[in-house]
Amino acid sequence: MSERPPFPGKALAEAGLNRQFVFDLDALPAATRQTLGDTIGFRQLILLGHGGRRLWERLQAADPVGEHPIDDYTVRTVHAWLAEHLPGRAWRIVYPGEQPVGLQGLGKLAGWHHAAPFMVGIDAEWGSWYAYRAVVLVDFEFSAFFPVDRGNPCLNCAATPCLAACPPGALAGGRFDFAACSGFRLQAASPCAEGCLARQACPVGAEHRYAPEQIAHSYRRSLAMLRQYRA
Ligand code: SF4
Ligand code: SF4
Repeated sequence: MSERPPFPGKALAEAGLNRQFVFDLDALPAATRQTLGDTIGFRQLILLGHGGRRLWERLQAADPVGEHPIDDYTVRTVHAWLAEHLPGRAWRIVYPGEQPVGLQGLGKLAGWHHAAPFMVGIDAEWGSWYAYRAVVLVDFEFSAFFPVDRGNPCLNCAATPCLAACPPGALAGGRFDFAACSGFRLQAASPCAEGCLARQACPVGAEHRYAPEQIAHSYRRSLAMLRQYRA
């Protein structure tokens, strides 16, 4: 049997898609596979994320336009990578897309995801400053990755500055109070309209914290969704 080639992820990482994981589809739990739609004809799943500021910096340099500039940039980048590295092979971008995909479940399997009190994934390296950007099915077999789980930093965090930084106390009591958080964010001139103060108070991975414009971009989107949800 010929040896599988290593995943050639350098150009993706340079473009800001610097969190990468390759799964053999056969090794995924059935429940996860069900969220992917029809996987016939594909052998592997590539999970891509961004960590830190690089993707945002590359996006700004690419002069972004449109309603979903990060998704558009990601899809363009993945298309170019597929054309170069897997010409003639079948592939399908599952996310971004219409179909809901269990991104956090994949993140857990990759060892990336632990739950932080403010309901964003966290790990010991990047803190909460990473996100899932693409899920791609491919008819190919790269060397599959092994999970590297650096543990949940919240378990050793005695000071819990995130809890104290949340103005309405939405993280108190060991559970996230969605109503308190969303109600506070929707108030006029809320300091949480364009960013989560609790997330920004977390010291883990602080060197990877997004630029203020990147934080504002993502929280403006979630605030718009909240407004729709409450309408
Ligand atoms: S401040 Fe502590 S408890 Fe809060 S998210 Fe960071 S590591 Fe976890
Ligand atoms: S967005 Fe504001 S209210 Fe909601 S959890 Fe973060 S700090 Fe608390």
